[in-house]
Amino acid sequence: MSDNKKTGAAADYGIMYEGSNLPAEKIAGIRGRLVSILGEEHVSDKEVDKIAYSKDYWPLALRWTLERKVAGMPDFIAWPENTEQVSQVVRLANEYGISVIPFGEGSGVMGSAIPVKGGIMLDMKRMDRILEINDEDLVLRVQPGMNGEILERTLVHKGYTLANIPQSIRCSTVGGWIGCRAAGQFSTKYGKIDDMFLSLEAVLPNGEVMRSKLTPKSSTGPQVDRLFLGSEGILGIVTEVALRIWPAPGKRVLASYVFDKLGDSLETVRMTIRTGIYPAVVRIYDRLETERHFLAHFKEVKNKIILILVMEGAAELVELEDKVSRETALANNGKPLGDGPVQRWFKTRFNVKEAAEFAPRDVVFDTIEVSTVWSNAGNLYNSMVKAMAGVEGVIIASAHGSHFYPQGVCFYFTFGGVPPKGTDGTEFYRKVWDAAMEACLIAGGSISHHHGMGIMRSQWLRRELGEGGFNALKAIKDAWDPSGILNPGKLVGGEQK
Ligand SMILES: Cc1cc2nc3c(=O)[nH]c(=O)nc-3n(C[C@H](O)[C@H](O)[C@H](O)COP(=O)(O)OP(=O)(O)OC[C@H]3O[C@@H](n4cnc5c(N)ncnc54)[C@H](O)[C@@H]3O)c2cc1C
Repeated sequence: MSDNKKTGAAADYGIMYEGSNLPAEKIAGIRGRLVSILGEEHVSDKEVDKIAYSKDYWPLALRWTLERKVAGMPDFIAWPENTEQVSQVVRLANEYGISVIPFGEGSGVMGSAIPVKGGIMLDMKRMDRILEINDEDLVLRVQPGMNGEILERTLVHKGYTLANIPQSIRCSTVGGWIGCRAAGQFSTKYGKIDDMFLSLEAVLPNGEVMRSKLTPKSSTGPQVDRLFLGSEGILGIVTEVALRIWPAPGKRVLASYVFDKLGDSLETVRMTIRTGIYPAVVRIYDRLETERHFLAHFKEVKNKIILILVMEGAAELVELEDKVSRETALANNGKPLGDGPVQRWFKTRFNVKEAAEFAPRDVVFDTIEVSTVWSNAGNLYNSMVKAMAGVEGVIIASAHGSHFYPQGVCFYFTFGGVPPKGTDGTEFYRKVWDAAMEACLIAGGSISHHHGMGIMRSQWLRRELGEGGFNALKAIKDAWDPSGILNPGKLVGGEQK
């Protein structure tokens, strides 16, 4: 990582990651070729565009912005319109030895789309069409640059749902969801993007186009296309995806319960799901988060744990889900609080205004989502809260359970604090992450549930996958992309702890 100051009229800022450092004549050659493939208006090397594409939503990169630093400076931004153009750009990149970084909407929170070695940012937003909605097969074929909110609204308008509703739905794309293995708020019933995925078309690192067969399931050896799930652009560029959809739900029931103990709320969900009942939205907020989100409106939640449920689908099914979850909550010391808190959750579920309010005041915060099996849930929660709260300067360390399975749970932690005197914000941020990841690994949890690895979390990938798993993934990357063209510095390309 370098902190080299650029010189020149508009450039009094530092750059955190080195650029491509390619000689000027090579850059000019690449520009000419990009323009011939995409047209002048779909290639930019303007400084203002390069700065705009220098980072994603990784909080450290946002912090650097406040310090007049850019994370990584690309050489070009390119906007392809079809698979052939993507393939040609990748072939050109191999020829010239320049990186290519696929880019959706840059809402990734781990730095996965940051160009650590400069290169070509391949913004996929012009490839944003719905190609087919097949009612008989309940299959959607869509291009990767499609925005999440536009996609879901269109589907609902036509009587369907994909039901992948991440909090970032307004600022993320299908390609980014595949790249990071995203999970939406309605995941307990409908699954995560991994569960919705059926097949794809992708451009491989040598420019070849691969297309997998659309089928509900096959047994034809390992499923190569699934390697793209969570691959963060290092194995290829996804140019089309087929996803499972559902008829839009008929009925929706909202319910909430409060508990004295976190364990009772978790047990309610475990026992409910165990019967084969899958509410669409299930969220359990710990004591701190319950008060933070609900106390101003519902005094009954003081010093309590809240469980939020949304059940939707065919009317008889939803009534049964409501009945079973209610009986289970009551049997586990839950007190019904009605639909009010859930209505409130619906109103506020996309709010992220804290980020804009607190970051400029030197408050350092982030969220960390991890997962584990039920038998380890209490241990993981306690270990991680304790580890984060133990870092000097941390003011809050809290969590909610946001995605649930018959086998376990995803905890979504939030930490916030102020760097102690003499400590730089970046150093403080890294200290809290170190403590959290160490605690997670020791407790046996998986270090990411749906945000992916990016620059920040890839450091722990070897420990997460184990030596064998890490080496296998690296061997695939090295064989597919021997020159390391695609999105360097992420996953196996990241520095390891
Ligand atoms: C406020 C906020 C809330 C969020 N809430 C959620 C949430 O509820 N659930 C969740 O899962 N995530 C959430 N995220 C994280 C983020 O939105 C997801 O990681 C999302 O999947 C990123 O999509 P994107 O289109 O913005 O991708 P980008 O950030 O542009 O890219 C992400 C990665 O995917 C790769 N990529 C993009 N397009 C392609 C392609 N066509 N082919 C191959 N690789 C590609 C990129 O190279 C990069 O490595 C949230 C983020 C924010 C800022």
